Amino acid sequence: MPEPVTTSGGIDAIYAEVRRLTGTDAAVAPPALTEASPGITSVALRTPTLPPAAHTACYLVGEGELVAIDPGSPFSDQQGALVDVIRERGELVAVLLTHHHGDHAGGAQALAAATGAPIWAHAATAAALPGVAIARHLADGEVLEVGGRALRAVHTPGHAVGHLCYRDEATAATIAGDMVAGLGTILIDPSGGHMATYLASLERMIAIGTGALLPAHGPVIADGPGKLREYIAHRLMRERRVRDALGRAPRTAAELCAVAYADTPTFLWPLAERSLLAHLVKLVEDDAAVADGSGWRLP
Ligand SMILES: [Zn+2]
Repeated sequence: MPEPVTTSGGIDAIYAEVRRLTGTDAAVAPPALTEASPGITSVALRTPTLPPAAHTACYLVGEGELVAIDPGSPFSDQQGALVDVIRERGELVAVLLTHHHGDHAGGAQALAAATGAPIWAHAATAAALPGVAIARHLADGEVLEVGGRALRAVHTPGHAVGHLCYRDEATAATIAGDMVAGLGTILIDPSGGHMATYLASLERMIAIGTGALLPAHGPVIADGPGKLREYIAHRLMRERRVRDALGRAPRTAAELCAVAYADTPTFLWPLAERSLLAHLVKLVEDDAAVADGSGWRLP
């Protein structure tokens, strides 16, 4: 019987605990290159992320002149391989980040140091990475012209407050960071995430005409709008289960989790509890639940 996951220390610590429990650190191997979309290459780098994913896609956009989005690997073999791939293709103009989590930003400084390229990210991402020199703050709607492609920064908070997606204006293909996953799940942790904001960002991605989704973890998702609608429906289904688990008397997070996440393996319940708390925050905001002592109940 595996030990429970401990959930203190932010999302990177949560990911580390799940990796330890599931034994899913990836084997050392050279990064796999894939043409994700016209003019966009995915370089799958081994990272300390949330299993079953074991890699973060670093997307290279442009020809001749390039940007690299989310060089997340802290491992020197992966960082060196990425620099080699970039040097074969052209000159790196900037390192872009979708958000501050370690499996996305973990190799940014090393890549900047190796190439001389500056790091650009949302101001809230920069605030969350005080030790990283972020040369330019990107705002919602900004369009970056690089190597024959135009990328629009789209602010999509909810998983992380400074989360940006990058939409290729020619094809609508969207580098989606941790808004959706092609493999595994997206954790909304109340320490830095916010469920209602996340749902609103998923809706906005549909509204602005998102095409294929290029996620940080797993393969390209051809039907982007379909996947976004599926994510919204799944979160709302879980929210209903959490609401249905509430009673007149207060119940603790552990008691609610056992009911609302009965379909999740028990050793992952402490991880599921983080998601549960994010749903409870939203239910309280919606006046559908009340925090009462150490538990929650119906209003
Ligand atoms: Zn993340």
